Amino acid sequence: MSACPPLIAIPLGSPTDGATSLYALGAAYVAAIYAAGGVPVLLPPDDDPTALVARLDAFDGLLLAGGGDVLPEFYGQSATALVQGVDRARDLTEIALVQAALERGMPLLSICRGAQLLCIAAGGTLHQDIQTNLPCALDHRHQPGRPRDHLSHTVALEHSGQLAWALGLGVGDEVHVNSRHHQAVDTPPPDFCAAARAPDGVIEALELASSNSAFALGVQWHPEDLASRHDCMASLFRALVRRAAQP
Ligand code: MN
Repeated sequence: MSACPPLIAIPLGSPTDGATSLYALGAAYVAAIYAAGGVPVLLPPDDDPTALVARLDAFDGLLLAGGGDVLPEFYGQSATALVQGVDRARDLTEIALVQAALERGMPLLSICRGAQLLCIAAGGTLHQDIQTNLPCALDHRHQPGRPRDHLSHTVALEHSGQLAWALGLGVGDEVHVNSRHHQAVDTPPPDFCAAARAPDGVIEALELASSNSAFALGVQWHPEDLASRHDCMASLFRALVRRAAQP
């Protein structure tokens, strides 16, 4: 690792409405990047996504956090009534940043909504609602009363690539994960593959398929809520920081 810890940009959503507009980001993302040896830098949206992309030069890696659903128009579909928590400015900002990061080969870890946004930004599609599109699937949603680190289901690795490298596991190995999503990847983008699936077949991780490509990984679960107690989940953030530290 270089003498200067790598700077990891974390885009923020739009300010919350209220007497005082505030930006918000779960503290667990920040803690996970610090614990991995990086410096998290919170990046608010800009009305001009081009200007924001130009600022990407100042950073070594990109972390996309969770949040509301991405507008289905960005993957060529009309929104059903089940789409929730949309933030068009955040969608536009993050799609521009992810496309620029992929073009530059900037290391990228994306979480939950972030994994879905990575899928869309690279040309894939989502299931707008798992229960509707896949009625036999597990219930992947947050269950009231359960802690954020509740381990809901397993995921099995199905590709010997970046996720397997980061976790130190092989194809067929399983890890327990938390689950707080109602959408999932339907069609992975060109050049990407499903890296892990839940027992019901739902895609739980997405990565660039070529072994010599840049680090670009999306996970559907929330490793930031598991990292302090489950070292294999902390290893996802260490993988991002390690790749971001490479010249
Ligand atoms: Mn899940």
